[in-house]
Amino acid sequence: MKTAETSLDRLAESRARITRAARDAGRDPQEVTLVCVSKTFAAPDITPIIEAGERVFGENRVQEALEKWPALKKNHLGLELHLIGPLQSNKAQEAVLFFDVIETVDREKIAKTIASEIQKTGRHPRLYVQVNTGAEPQKAGVLPQEADRFIASCRTDYGLDISGLMCIPPVDEQASPHFALLNKIAKRNGIAVLSMGMSSDFELAIQLGATHVRVGGAIFGSR
Ligand SMILES: *Cc1c(COP(=O)(O)O)cnc(C)c1O
Repeated sequence: MKTAETSLDRLAESRARITRAARDAGRDPQEVTLVCVSKTFAAPDITPIIEAGERVFGENRVQEALEKWPALKKNHLGLELHLIGPLQSNKAQEAVLFFDVIETVDREKIAKTIASEIQKTGRHPRLYVQVNTGAEPQKAGVLPQEADRFIASCRTDYGLDISGLMCIPPVDEQASPHFALLNKIAKRNGIAVLSMGMSSDFELAIQLGATHVRVGGAIFGSR
């Protein structure tokens, strides 16, 4: 009888899928960073994944991250935390102080607030712009047709170093056109980092140029 699958088994499987997808696409697997999405999971679930060697984690809520990660950071060196959920202005200072990467810059107001918090705190998290590739009304992110102008504004008006783009394709659509669109917007804006692909579609994202895949359920199990 097969014993119950653990998060370590699932991590190994996800790692193998990343390696295979990169090789199939003629890419070096090292070019693809696995962001382990630990939202809703508590420290005892996260610790084994850190001990297995993972260092890059994604959280979608500032408050939740502040509650669980300081203790984990104290016990493990070299962790890199990504904010992958929407950021409100009143949480911008905490986000700038706490996260290594903010993947969800998506409007003038938050760009301006982040710029001012960077000035105040002297902390420089890496910044990605979230693009709402499916133009879904309920979803965060700048519209694709406004992305170039917004990225330029972040850079010139606010002095922000935008190093990546991120997207979450609509759940009920083929993801590939969304990944391809994000890649195209990145290229014409001189952006090298593409955060795209989740548990169900990260192989496709790697095929279409993802440098970062954000994987939750496929590692931690269902939420
Ligand atoms: C939850 C989440 C993920 C991970 O989704 P899974 O389907 O569990 O892999 C990736 N990106 C964002 C922005 C998320 O909120």
